[in-house]
Amino acid sequence: MLITSLAAGALAGTPLRAQGASLSVVATTGMIADAARRVGGAHVEVKALMGPGVDPHSYRQTRTDIQAALRADLVLWHGLYLEAQMEEFLLKLGERGTAVPVGEAVPRDQRIAHEDYANKFDPHVWMVPDLWTYVVNGVRDALSEAAPDRADLFASHATEYLEELDALGSYARDVLATVPQPARVLLTAHDAFGYFGAAYGFEVVGIQGISTESEAGLNRIRTLADMLVERGIGAVFVETSVSDRNIRALVEGAAAQGHKVKIGGELFSDAMGAPGTYTGTYIGMIDHNVSTIARALGGEVPQRGMQGKLEEGS
Ligand code: ZN
Repeated sequence: MLITSLAAGALAGTPLRAQGASLSVVATTGMIADAARRVGGAHVEVKALMGPGVDPHSYRQTRTDIQAALRADLVLWHGLYLEAQMEEFLLKLGERGTAVPVGEAVPRDQRIAHEDYANKFDPHVWMVPDLWTYVVNGVRDALSEAAPDRADLFASHATEYLEELDALGSYARDVLATVPQPARVLLTAHDAFGYFGAAYGFEVVGIQGISTESEAGLNRIRTLADMLVERGIGAVFVETSVSDRNIRALVEGAAAQGHKVKIGGELFSDAMGAPGTYTGTYIGMIDHNVSTIARALGGEVPQRGMQGKLEEGS
């Protein structure tokens, strides 16, 4: 395999960062890259391998990714089997001591077990800011280990960012609490919202399972369309990183039975928005999701979200 031959040369000596030089970090997902930028500040250069709309369950490293990862001082990945197709590669990098699965900083007793596999957990921990704080601390620790001379700075940046995440967590709780009880059903393309549902009291239904790797059958769509009709659920959601084909089939299935279901909006489930935009940050992503869900399901939401930064009606 390509990685084996490339890694063999690099394994001879892990490059040592010169004192005071900026730390080069490669992150798999945009959410982890954002955390590394916030905690690292001007002292790190961060590259995310997966951009907007990219599905981490099915993403496989490119030749360019492999080179970037081998050259980086530190590789931050999620773990919890999120990067299913990259796991072998990432574990190999971990043997060199330069790759850390920061999603696994979430304590075991706070993880949701995976129905399909023993000893596997739902990876979608970023959906709840309170859980994401563990990952931010994991990023802080990994950066500090890679550049101990900057540890104090990383700690102070992390403290500052964690305060913002605390405010985000409060906003999510407050806004989602305004959604009327019977409307608290979140139906999306895949099971990315398990932690969200558990934290904020929503029943969560994904057409596909926890990973997007399994296909949803026609029977599943039919059963869910019946459920929408029976329970009078008025809105379902599409995701930026998953095809909307199944959701649209579902809306049509309900319409065929005379029940009108609207698409409540597009959620950032497994990837953030475009770089340089508000939803291209973790805080913007969650603000958007929380505000969109609460609004579509009849809750009370500030016009432009938590900080007035969301686009009108987004
Ligand atoms: Zn997912």
